[in-house]
Amino acid sequence: MDCIENKGKLIVISGPSGVGKSTLLHRLFREYPDNVCFSVSYTSRSPRIGENHGKDYYFTDNETFEHKIKNNDFLEWARVHGNYYGTGKSEVEEILHSGKHCILDIDVQGADSVRSSGIPAMFLFIAPENIETLRCRLEKRGTESEETIAKRLKNAVGELAQKDKYDHVIVNKDLDLAYKELQKYIFG
Ligand code: ADP
Ligand code: 5GP
Repeated sequence: MDCIENKGKLIVISGPSGVGKSTLLHRLFREYPDNVCFSVSYTSRSPRIGENHGKDYYFTDNETFEHKIKNNDFLEWARVHGNYYGTGKSEVEEILHSGKHCILDIDVQGADSVRSSGIPAMFLFIAPENIETLRCRLEKRGTESEETIAKRLKNAVGELAQKDKYDHVIVNKDLDLAYKELQKYIFG
């Protein structure tokens, strides 16, 4: 990506499935619609009930996704929990040009790619108190099958092992406290 003259920061947020990333981010976007913007990713996974194309993700099939890989359309992409996920270059460029902070909710592989691209970014990791908390939250959310929950919990162990690569780790135990920390890191 070309050097972009702007005031907005690129902020990369990672953390295991069910830790509360979307919950924290929705609150952030509600409170600061003029200052932060979510980079809507592309994915080959199916939409969950309540998710909207163009708002939560651009939902695509494998073929379209692979075409976009070949076309070099992604800032980063990865296979996560058996599906494709990727950040569109043009989405990020548009947000940063607008002067807003651009938020990427991406997995640890995607964060590695952004890190090695040399694009200046702040890296935040959202962690649970423990794995059992993740299981409870995923079960309570009720959006995944038992099999998918098991896969996501298994992957969480490897993801948590990478948290020290990040600039800051926020433990999402108490939602209000975690949100305050997030605000502090983003707005200083
Ligand atoms: P992620 O986007 O990281 O997969 P979600 O934001 O969907 O996770 O959160 C998973 C579930 O946990 C949701 O049902 C959400 O309401 C709940 N949750 C999020 N943060 C907390 C918290 N601090 N305490 C209790 N439940 C939480
Ligand atoms: P979910 O299916 O729960 O929405 O997301 C699963 C995982 O994919 C999460 O860890 C999320 O951060 C990650 N993810 C979402 N979008 C992207 C993306 O564009 N790139 C990468 N690398 N990971 C993503």
